[in-house]
Amino acid sequence: MAEIKKRLGEVKQRMAAAARRAGRGPDEIQLVAISKGIPLPQIREGLEAGIPILGENRVQEAREKIAVLGRPVSWHMVGHLQTNKAKLAVELFDLIHSLDSLRLARELDRHGQAAGKVVRAFVQVKLVPEETKSGVEEADFFSLVEATSELSNLKVEGLMVLPPFFRDPEESRPFFRRLRELRDHLRERAIPNVGMQHLSMGMSHDFEVAIEEGATLVRIGTAIFGPRPTG
Ligand SMILES: *Cc1c(COP(=O)(O)O)cnc(C)c1O
Repeated sequence: MAEIKKRLGEVKQRMAAAARRAGRGPDEIQLVAISKGIPLPQIREGLEAGIPILGENRVQEAREKIAVLGRPVSWHMVGHLQTNKAKLAVELFDLIHSLDSLRLARELDRHGQAAGKVVRAFVQVKLVPEETKSGVEEADFFSLVEATSELSNLKVEGLMVLPPFFRDPEESRPFFRRLRELRDHLRERAIPNVGMQHLSMGMSHDFEVAIEEGATLVRIGTAIFGPRPTG
């Protein structure tokens, strides 16, 4: 049962090594442990082992877990968010990695206002247009980010990408590099009320490459919790 603690330690070491290779400080990168599909006892074990942030990809599942586990750490939303779940998401999560439409941005802003808080979000960019997964296409991306500038209860703080799965992590590298370039572009524009300090990129199989390319948050499930139970 000490397995999760051991794997968490290994992930942290590999993160630090990747940071050093890239001439970065290890504390520049935050670890979001993705607990989707993982039962409560293992999540508790992970928390005891020192998981700093938890990430979920479904609002309902997160709601049930948060009801039991509470908030010993922050909870992040990393999966596609439907507009009709925006209110609940604002209540549950400290950060949303998957903002991908102006409609959703407006809903998050509206519910943020009602709850008296500023909703923190990353814009998820879809770098492969034909992929049906969530994310805003590059062509629409600048206008979405600019539009959020007007929303006083929504603060965009960075970008997120979920590249297609490649067996060889090196194949993810161009996607991570592209996301960093987009982020740098936006930084130059210095849009009011838009921060561009963060890049959420890298998962169990490619987080080291992502850190080399500038990730400030990595989203890691399997490498910490082991394979997710199916069914
Ligand atoms: C599941 C998931 C992850 C983590 O995937 P692993 O391969 O288990 O590390 C990261 N990001 C998102 C958006 C996910 O849905």
